[in-house]
Amino acid sequence: MVGKMVRLTVLGFIAFLLILTAAGNSMVRAASLDAFEAESLLYVREEEKLARDTYLTLYGIWGTDIFQTIANSEQAHMDAVKALLDKYGLEDPALPEIGVFQNDFLQEKYDELVAWGAQSEADALLVGCLIEEIDLIDLIERMAQITKRDILTVFQNLVDGSENHLRAFVARYESLTGNTYTPVYLDRNTYLQIITGDSDSGGGGNETGGGGNGRGNGGPQGGR
Ligand code: ZN
Ligand code: ZN
Repeated sequence: MVGKMVRLTVLGFIAFLLILTAAGNSMVRAASLDAFEAESLLYVREEEKLARDTYLTLYGIWGTDIFQTIANSEQAHMDAVKALLDKYGLEDPALPEIGVFQNDFLQEKYDELVAWGAQSEADALLVGCLIEEIDLIDLIERMAQITKRDILTVFQNLVDGSENHLRAFVARYESLTGNTYTPVYLDRNTYLQIITGDSDSGGGGNETGGGGNGRGNGGPQGGR
């Protein structure tokens, strides 16, 4: 009789452990990403690669330092997203070859933007401005639908970096051509806030300065 009780107790304990394990698993699942968050990480990883690869290629054509400097910053952005892919066990979509993408849309964009930027140095700088505008809009739209703190923190860093990059490309374009840059995708107010460094988001210190953070007074950097 006692032996049977003990056996039942042991069985009960094992069942209890199994239930605990199952609960544990579902808690892990609850803490993992939803489909939109996962898709966002995969897309943004390749979108940052689009920026990096385009700038590296344009640097190869024009030898203007700004492209090399900002490409380095895009590498840091790629790394930050990769750390999140690793954390959540997602496979990295970024291929090692420069200018090769898994996402067809980004591949098309790369081909198109490099062809445009190859026409003149001013065109190359316009390509830089455009890429930063697109990155900003994509990131801000995605952030509005994401609640995970770690992702929001990384995306906010990318936004701060893109704002720096946009300021740097615009300053360089304007000093090279004497023209005033007109935003293509950003609305006028948002653009002006960014250009005057008025964005209320980032509070203080600028990270990852994109090539001489010039505000209109950046003299020509003398492309080699
Ligand atoms: Zn970036
Ligand atoms: Zn950028």
